Amino acid sequence: MPDAAHLFISDLHLDASAPAAVEQFLQFLSAEAARARSLYILGDLFEAWVGDDDEEPARQRVCEALMRLTRGGVPCFVVRGNRDFLFGAGFEARTGCQLLPDPLLATFGEQQIFVSHGDVLCTDDHSYQELRSIVRNPQWQGRFLALPLAARRIVADAARAGSKAHTQNVQRAIMDVNPQAVVTAFRVSGTRLMIHGHTHRPGIFQHDVDGELGTRIVLGDWYEQGSVLIYRDGDHYELRTLKR
Ligand code: MN
Repeated sequence: MPDAAHLFISDLHLDASAPAAVEQFLQFLSAEAARARSLYILGDLFEAWVGDDDEEPARQRVCEALMRLTRGGVPCFVVRGNRDFLFGAGFEARTGCQLLPDPLLATFGEQQIFVSHGDVLCTDDHSYQELRSIVRNPQWQGRFLALPLAARRIVADAARAGSKAHTQNVQRAIMDVNPQAVVTAFRVSGTRLMIHGHTHRPGIFQHDVDGELGTRIVLGDWYEQGSVLIYRDGDHYELRTLKR
């Protein structure tokens, strides 16, 4: 992989139950990411994150590897996903990563990029958006984080089972981004380039934004293989699959 690129990844869903993905990510951090200008992780790094005090071994190994990367001089920026929305200051302290708001407008040279996990754009999934507004509420999070770790894990497992049932019952189109929401995001941000994950439908999609072309790059998940967007200043980008 060429040097001096910014790398974007998302939807790794790392968990001890899928060790191949964990190993691939650790390898990626010590190889491609170690040579990058920066690494952006756009959400769902972990399958679940029930608090910054969770030191389960697989998650701990990933945090230590991220710390090696950032201590080695590669800045790493993280946007929270719908699985790891509880990342907080403790996660930053454990990894050296910097948490960013979602969405955000990132600047690379002359280019500004609308960056998001992507779930905010899935406005057709009303029950999901309702759940999102509950769990993103600071008071709800405070109450949840006050529970013992074991209790939080039970709640998270139940939430994952509920999420699985929901995604199996809801039409595929409803779980994709809403085209109007995408155009609105382009319009209000003023940029014509967007990068997000979440939908697990990798590709480069074009949108008509008031007669201009808006380019939306969707990162792939890491269930069967890796997926990375290699971005260089000046609008050179490549969405690449990393074979396992
Ligand atoms: Mn997601």
